[in-house]
Amino acid sequence: MTLNIILLGPPGAGKGTQAARLEEEKGMVQLSTGDMLRAAVKAGTPIGLQAKAVMDAGELVSDEIVSGLIGERLDELGGETSVIFDGYPRTAAQADALDAILAARGRKLDHVIELQVDEDALVDRITGRFSCAACGAGYHDRYKQPKTPDTCDACGGHEFKRRPDDNEETVRTRMAEYRAKTAPILPIYEARGIVGRVDGMAPIDEVNAAIEAILG
Ligand code: ADP
Ligand code: AMP
Repeated sequence: MTLNIILLGPPGAGKGTQAARLEEEKGMVQLSTGDMLRAAVKAGTPIGLQAKAVMDAGELVSDEIVSGLIGERLDELGGETSVIFDGYPRTAAQADALDAILAARGRKLDHVIELQVDEDALVDRITGRFSCAACGAGYHDRYKQPKTPDTCDACGGHEFKRRPDDNEETVRTRMAEYRAKTAPILPIYEARGIVGRVDGMAPIDEVNAAIEAILG
Protein backbone atom coordinates (compact mmCIF):
# COMPACT_ATOMS: atom_id res chain seq x y z
CA MET A 1 0.00 0.00 0.00
CA THR A 2 1.32 3.43 -0.89
CA LEU A 3 1.43 5.86 2.04
CA ASN A 4 1.50 9.65 1.91
CA ILE A 5 2.30 11.29 5.24
CA ILE A 6 3.24 14.72 6.55
CA LEU A 7 5.66 15.19 9.45
CA LEU A 8 4.65 18.49 11.02
CA GLY A 9 6.52 20.37 13.71
CA PRO A 10 8.64 23.47 14.30
CA PRO A 11 12.27 23.70 13.20
CA GLY A 12 14.33 21.21 15.19
CA ALA A 13 11.35 19.04 16.12
CA GLY A 14 13.05 16.00 14.58
CA LYS A 15 11.28 15.76 11.21
CA GLY A 16 14.43 15.07 9.19
CA THR A 17 15.74 12.61 11.77
CA GLN A 18 12.50 10.65 11.76
CA ALA A 19 12.11 10.82 7.98
CA ALA A 20 15.55 9.22 7.62
CA ARG A 21 14.45 6.39 9.93
CA LEU A 22 11.27 5.82 7.91
CA GLU A 23 13.33 5.72 4.71
CA GLU A 24 15.55 3.03 6.22
CA GLU A 25 12.90 0.97 7.93
CA LYS A 26 9.84 1.40 5.73
CA GLY A 27 11.31 2.13 2.31
CA MET A 28 9.51 5.46 2.18
CA VAL A 29 11.02 8.50 0.44
CA GLN A 30 11.58 11.82 2.22
CA LEU A 31 10.50 14.94 0.34
CA SER A 32 12.09 17.85 2.19
CA THR A 33 11.53 21.24 0.58
CA GLY A 34 14.36 22.59 2.76
CA ASP A 35 16.77 20.02 1.26
CA MET A 36 15.50 20.76 -2.27
CA LEU A 37 15.99 24.49 -1.75
CA ARG A 38 19.48 24.03 -0.27
CA ALA A 39 20.40 21.90 -3.31
CA ALA A 40 19.10 24.68 -5.58
CA VAL A 41 21.14 27.30 -3.69
CA LYS A 42 24.26 25.13 -3.98
CA ALA A 43 23.73 24.55 -7.70
CA GLY A 44 23.07 28.28 -8.27
CA THR A 45 19.80 27.66 -10.15
CA PRO A 46 17.33 30.56 -10.62
CA ILE A 47 15.22 29.18 -7.75
CA GLY A 48 18.30 28.93 -5.56
CA LEU A 49 19.32 32.50 -6.32
CA GLN A 50 15.84 33.70 -5.41
CA ALA A 51 15.58 31.60 -2.25
CA LYS A 52 18.96 32.16 -0.63
CA ALA A 53 18.40 35.50 1.11
CA VAL A 54 14.93 34.46 2.27
CA MET A 55 16.29 31.25 3.80
CA ASP A 56 19.22 33.03 5.45
CA ALA A 57 16.71 35.37 7.10
CA GLY A 58 14.57 32.43 8.31
CA GLU A 59 11.55 33.60 6.34
CA LEU A 60 9.39 31.52 4.00
CA VAL A 61 10.12 31.02 0.30
CA SER A 62 7.10 31.58 -1.98
CA ASP A 63 4.30 29.02 -2.03
CA GLU A 64 4.57 28.68 -5.82
CA ILE A 65 8.24 27.74 -5.71
CA VAL A 66 7.94 25.06 -3.03
CA SER A 67 4.73 23.55 -4.40
CA GLY A 68 6.36 23.44 -7.84
CA LEU A 69 9.33 21.55 -6.40
CA ILE A 70 7.06 19.02 -4.68
CA GLY A 71 5.03 18.35 -7.82
CA GLU A 72 8.18 17.81 -9.88
CA ARG A 73 9.67 15.43 -7.34
CA LEU A 74 6.49 13.37 -7.11
CA ASP A 75 6.46 13.03 -10.89
CA GLU A 76 10.05 11.77 -10.83
CA LEU A 77 9.10 9.15 -8.22
CA GLY A 78 6.05 7.75 -9.98
CA GLY A 79 2.95 6.42 -8.25
CA GLU A 80 4.13 3.41 -6.27
CA THR A 81 6.46 5.08 -3.78
CA SER A 82 5.36 5.97 -0.25
CA VAL A 83 6.37 9.52 0.65
CA ILE A 84 7.04 11.65 3.72
CA PHE A 85 6.50 15.38 3.37
CA ASP A 86 9.05 17.08 5.62
CA GLY A 87 8.86 20.86 6.00
CA TYR A 88 5.96 21.07 3.54
CA PRO A 89 3.21 22.29 3.64
CA ARG A 90 4.05 25.34 5.76
CA THR A 91 1.11 27.64 4.89
CA ALA A 92 -2.62 27.24 4.21
CA ALA A 93 -1.96 27.94 0.51
CA GLN A 94 0.60 25.12 0.43
CA ALA A 95 -1.85 22.78 2.18
CA ASP A 96 -4.42 23.54 -0.55
CA ALA A 97 -1.80 23.10 -3.25
CA LEU A 98 -0.76 19.75 -1.79
CA ASP A 99 -4.34 18.48 -1.93
CA ALA A 100 -4.48 19.37 -5.62
CA ILE A 101 -1.02 17.96 -6.34
CA LEU A 102 -1.90 14.65 -4.69
CA ALA A 103 -5.35 14.39 -6.27
CA ALA A 104 -3.89 14.99 -9.74
CA ARG A 105 -1.57 12.03 -9.18
CA GLY A 106 -4.15 9.65 -7.68
CA ARG A 107 -2.69 9.99 -4.19
CA LYS A 108 -4.29 10.99 -0.90
CA LEU A 109 -2.97 12.00 2.49
CA ASP A 110 -3.03 9.14 5.02
CA HIS A 111 -1.54 10.70 8.15
CA VAL A 112 -0.35 14.05 9.45
CA ILE A 113 2.00 13.35 12.33
CA GLU A 114 2.56 16.27 14.65
CA LEU A 115 5.82 16.16 16.59
CA GLN A 116 5.01 17.97 19.81
CA VAL A 117 8.04 19.68 21.32
CA ASP A 118 8.96 22.14 23.98
CA GLU A 119 10.02 25.34 22.21
CA ASP A 120 12.74 26.11 24.73
CA ALA A 121 14.57 22.93 23.73
CA LEU A 122 14.57 23.78 20.04
CA VAL A 123 17.28 26.41 20.04
CA ASP A 124 19.54 23.90 21.74
CA ARG A 125 18.61 21.21 19.21
CA ILE A 126 19.20 23.46 16.23
CA THR A 127 22.41 25.15 17.32
CA GLY A 128 23.90 21.68 18.03
CA ARG A 129 22.86 20.21 14.68
CA PHE A 130 25.42 19.16 12.06
CA SER A 131 25.47 16.75 9.15
CA CYS A 132 27.82 14.69 7.01
CA ALA A 133 29.14 16.78 4.12
CA ALA A 134 29.21 13.72 1.86
CA CYS A 135 25.88 11.96 2.46
CA GLY A 136 23.86 14.41 4.56
CA ALA A 137 23.29 12.08 7.55
CA GLY A 138 22.20 14.18 10.52
CA TYR A 139 23.87 14.44 13.93
CA HIS A 140 23.84 16.51 17.12
CA ASP A 141 26.70 17.69 19.33
CA ARG A 142 25.11 16.06 22.38
CA TYR A 143 22.08 13.98 21.38
CA LYS A 144 23.33 12.06 18.35
CA GLN A 145 27.07 11.90 17.94
CA PRO A 146 28.69 9.64 15.35
CA LYS A 147 29.51 6.22 16.89
CA THR A 148 33.18 6.68 15.98
CA PRO A 149 34.34 10.29 16.56
CA ASP A 150 34.57 12.39 13.39
CA THR A 151 33.37 9.51 11.21
CA CYS A 152 29.92 9.37 9.61
CA ASP A 153 27.98 6.25 10.70
CA ALA A 154 26.32 6.03 7.29
CA CYS A 155 29.16 6.56 4.79
CA GLY A 156 32.43 6.75 6.76
CA GLY A 157 33.00 10.36 5.68
CA HIS A 158 35.11 12.65 7.87
CA GLU A 159 33.80 16.06 6.83
CA PHE A 160 30.82 17.63 8.52
CA LYS A 161 28.89 20.85 7.96
CA ARG A 162 26.45 23.18 9.72
CA ARG A 163 23.59 25.11 8.14
CA PRO A 164 24.05 28.88 7.87
CA ASP A 165 20.50 29.42 9.16
CA ASP A 166 21.06 27.30 12.28
CA ASN A 167 21.93 30.25 14.49
CA GLU A 168 19.92 31.49 17.44
CA GLU A 169 18.65 34.69 15.82
CA THR A 170 17.40 33.00 12.65
CA VAL A 171 15.90 30.16 14.65
CA ARG A 172 13.71 32.65 16.50
CA THR A 173 12.38 34.00 13.19
CA ARG A 174 11.81 30.45 11.90
CA MET A 175 9.84 29.59 15.02
CA ALA A 176 7.76 32.74 14.71
CA GLU A 177 7.01 31.82 11.08
CA TYR A 178 5.96 28.35 12.25
CA ARG A 179 3.62 29.72 14.91
CA ALA A 180 2.07 32.33 12.61
CA LYS A 181 1.74 30.41 9.34
CA THR A 182 2.25 26.67 9.81
CA ALA A 183 0.60 25.73 13.12
CA PRO A 184 -2.74 27.19 11.88
CA ILE A 185 -2.96 24.53 9.13
CA LEU A 186 -3.36 21.70 11.68
CA PRO A 187 -7.13 22.20 12.09
CA ILE A 188 -7.59 21.52 8.35
CA TYR A 189 -6.23 18.03 8.92
CA GLU A 190 -7.88 17.58 12.32
CA ALA A 191 -11.25 18.07 10.63
CA ARG A 192 -10.37 15.13 8.38
CA GLY A 193 -9.44 12.93 11.38
CA ILE A 194 -5.94 12.17 10.10
CA VAL A 195 -3.76 13.87 12.75
CA GLY A 196 -1.61 11.70 15.00
CA ARG A 197 0.34 13.28 17.86
CA VAL A 198 3.74 12.13 19.04
CA ASP A 199 5.90 13.34 21.93
CA GLY A 200 8.90 14.76 20.06
CA MET A 201 10.82 15.31 23.30
CA ALA A 202 11.25 11.56 23.81
CA PRO A 203 14.51 9.88 22.72
CA ILE A 204 14.88 9.38 18.95
CA ASP A 205 14.11 5.63 19.07
CA GLU A 206 10.93 6.19 21.06
CA VAL A 207 9.70 8.87 18.69
CA ASN A 208 10.37 6.48 15.82
CA ALA A 209 8.40 3.67 17.51
CA ALA A 210 5.46 6.00 18.20
CA ILE A 211 5.36 7.10 14.55
CA GLU A 212 5.56 3.55 13.24
CA ALA A 213 2.73 2.56 15.59
CA ILE A 214 0.56 5.22 13.95
CA LEU A 215 1.49 4.05 10.45
CA GLY A 216 0.51 0.47 11.39
P1 ADP B 1 13.89 19.17 11.81
O1 ADP B 1 14.09 18.36 10.56
O2 ADP B 1 12.50 19.03 12.39
O3 ADP B 1 14.30 20.60 11.68
P2 ADP B 1 16.09 17.51 12.83
O4 ADP B 1 15.57 16.13 12.58
O5 ADP B 1 17.17 18.02 11.95
O6 ADP B 1 14.84 18.56 12.93
O7 ADP B 1 16.57 17.54 14.37
C1 ADP B 1 17.23 18.71 14.91
C2 ADP B 1 18.43 18.27 15.76
O8 ADP B 1 17.95 17.60 16.93
C3 ADP B 1 19.35 17.29 15.06
O9 ADP B 1 20.71 17.62 15.41
C4 ADP B 1 18.96 15.91 15.61
O10 ADP B 1 20.08 15.03 15.67
C5 ADP B 1 18.44 16.26 17.00
N1 ADP B 1 17.28 15.43 17.39
C6 ADP B 1 16.27 15.00 16.59
N2 ADP B 1 15.35 14.29 17.29
C7 ADP B 1 15.79 14.27 18.58
C8 ADP B 1 15.29 13.71 19.81
N3 ADP B 1 14.14 13.01 19.83
N4 ADP B 1 16.01 13.92 20.93
C9 ADP B 1 17.17 14.63 20.91
N5 ADP B 1 17.71 15.19 19.79
C10 ADP B 1 17.03 15.01 18.64
P1 AMP C 1 13.98 23.44 6.69
O1 AMP C 1 15.10 22.65 6.10
O2 AMP C 1 12.66 22.74 6.58
O3 AMP C 1 14.28 23.91 8.11
O4 AMP C 1 13.82 24.75 5.79
C1 AMP C 1 14.89 25.70 5.70
C2 AMP C 1 14.36 26.98 5.07
O5 AMP C 1 13.92 26.73 3.72
C3 AMP C 1 13.15 27.62 5.76
O6 AMP C 1 13.50 28.44 6.86
C4 AMP C 1 12.52 28.41 4.60
O7 AMP C 1 13.24 29.59 4.34
C5 AMP C 1 12.74 27.48 3.42
N1 AMP C 1 11.63 26.51 3.24
C6 AMP C 1 11.69 25.15 3.34
N2 AMP C 1 10.50 24.59 3.11
C7 AMP C 1 9.63 25.61 2.85
C8 AMP C 1 8.24 25.68 2.57
N3 AMP C 1 7.47 24.58 2.51
N4 AMP C 1 7.70 26.91 2.37
C9 AMP C 1 8.44 28.02 2.42
N5 AMP C 1 9.75 28.03 2.71
C10 AMP C 1 10.36 26.84 2.93
